[in-house]
Amino acid sequence: MTVTARTRVLTLLGDPVAHSASPEIQNAAFAQAGVDGVYVAVRCAADDLSGFMHGLARAGGGGNVTLPHKEKAAAVVHTPSEAVRRTGACNTFWGVDGKVHGDNTDVDGFRRAVRTFLDGPVTGIRVLVLGAGGAARAALLGLLEEGAGEVHLYNRTAERARAVARRIGGERARVVPVAQALDGERFDLVVNTTRLGLEPNDPPPIGLGRLHRAGAAMDLVYGREKTPFVLAAERLGIRSTDGMEMLVQQGAASFERWWDRPAPIDTMRAAVRKSLGR
Ligand code: NAP
Repeated sequence: MTVTARTRVLTLLGDPVAHSASPEIQNAAFAQAGVDGVYVAVRCAADDLSGFMHGLARAGGGGNVTLPHKEKAAAVVHTPSEAVRRTGACNTFWGVDGKVHGDNTDVDGFRRAVRTFLDGPVTGIRVLVLGAGGAARAALLGLLEEGAGEVHLYNRTAERARAVARRIGGERARVVPVAQALDGERFDLVVNTTRLGLEPNDPPPIGLGRLHRAGAAMDLVYGREKTPFVLAAERLGIRSTDGMEMLVQQGAASFERWWDRPAPIDTMRAAVRKSLGR
């Protein structure tokens, strides 16, 4: 594709951004779909976020927002989606008639990835979510919207888990105050949303062996190698997956917000695999 004066500019705004695979994934998708856009990563300070988002959206562009600005971005958008309102985080923005629209496609990305992983709906299942940061909020909302029966939240800092449960949870979210309370419990699915696993020597977030049953294990962390959580699940014979599919699916959902057409998902999956050296 040739970049011209009419080409739409989509940016990843965050700090740091140099490690991100999003430019490769989105530019591959733009080329495959034949849309006139270019995607670039811009290291952006908190004070510059609002100016970038407003200016880009007014110019007909948009983009993604990543750490550490997703919460600030939620306050910048004029028209937040339901997912932004409920999670308090925005990772995708675009302009309509001079107004900044925002969504949190981590929620949709998680929903699609969990359905793919379980090969069916999550209706009625009992889930344990580990962590209480931004990824946990997206996972919890996604699980509740998909009809999970009960979602138990365990986090190193219990107060954060309580705050997430209060914000999103309703009656189907329960907080596990201490790890010992997990002993002998049964879950159909365990989801790791902590950052443990970003470093290869990280321990798994809990010993899965303390549970009586974990039907399946889903890590939101991804990398070149298998994550400690996935390796621990494999050792116990538990079906598992890492965060690669969610990465693909949240990118696909962002593509759909910007271009109002289905994303070329196979192209995006291939671009992620290449970027992760798999
Ligand atoms: P965050 O808001 O910073 O939350 C970090 C979470 O990790 C908190 O629950 C924190 O617990 C926990 N944690 C950190 N260090 C820990 C330790 N040593 N022991 C136990 N728990 C620890 O981060 P986030 O935005 O939620 O992201 C979390 C992970 O999800 C990252 O690895 C990110 O790459 C991944 N993610 C993946 C996708 C995807 O598309 N696959 C999308 C979003 C995020 P405390 O509250 O106790 O500090």
